[in-house]
Amino acid sequence: MEHRARKRFGQNFLSDPNIIRKIVDAIRPLPDDLMVEIGPGLGALTEPLLERLEHLHVVEIDRDLIARLHQRWMPERLSVHQGDALKFDFGALATDGRALRIVGNLPYNISTPILFHLAQCADKVRDMTFMLQKEVVMRMVAEAGSEAYGRLSVMLQYRFHMERLFDVPPGAFRPVPKVMSSIVRMIPLPAEQLTARDQALLGEVVAAAFGQRRKTMRNTLRNYLGEADFAALGIDPGLRAERLAVADYVAIANYLADR
Ligand code: SAM
Repeated sequence: MEHRARKRFGQNFLSDPNIIRKIVDAIRPLPDDLMVEIGPGLGALTEPLLERLEHLHVVEIDRDLIARLHQRWMPERLSVHQGDALKFDFGALATDGRALRIVGNLPYNISTPILFHLAQCADKVRDMTFMLQKEVVMRMVAEAGSEAYGRLSVMLQYRFHMERLFDVPPGAFRPVPKVMSSIVRMIPLPAEQLTARDQALLGEVVAAAFGQRRKTMRNTLRNYLGEADFAALGIDPGLRAERLAVADYVAIANYLADR
């Protein structure tokens, strides 16, 4: 029976074999990788991934799709985890010393929360390769000073090296979405590069700074820093949040942590 795509689960299924091959080639799965796919859907990526992997984990929320996955693959090849990827403990899959590889054509309606959720288990991850709405990928990789640069850019660039690999047009999906998509690769930075002493405080400062992006840092960070503090940090309080580099936000958070 044909599956009716559910909008509330962000279901746009890949249907272009050339694009599917290109994505799997970019992931470059090796037989004994510890890999998990988020939102396998009808298996467009699952099948070619399993041609190269001995075993794959998948996390899927839609019960109808889960029933199909169980019918199609034996549990020795495919471990199906039913549930919401936003609540799934990905780190718990990394039990034998292998770092996780996480992939997926992500449901666009939850793209930002899922990225923040996955950042929490970055220490257990080798790499992540995702398809997302192009506009979101542009925000992830945006450089300081650009229009797309924001909280998502700073928080993810603090934790990951990120690269936009290629774009995928709407015609590659069924149903056809309204937006362009892109493939992004995220590789966790080594621990010695994570210099924020209090990551929660870094998150707080970045959220405050970008809360009102048209205002200057003097205004948005008023509760954290005075003129003398800005001077000590060597940061112009008349700048807007989008002018500061990731390293500047880390410097602010560490200054506050030490005070
Ligand atoms: N991988 C398939 C493909 O490329 O054709 C499907 C991709 S579709 C864009 C997103 C998939 O994520 C759907 O199968 C959907 O049911 C699933 N999904 C949506 N929300 C989810 C959630 N919160 N947790 C886990 N899976 C979810």
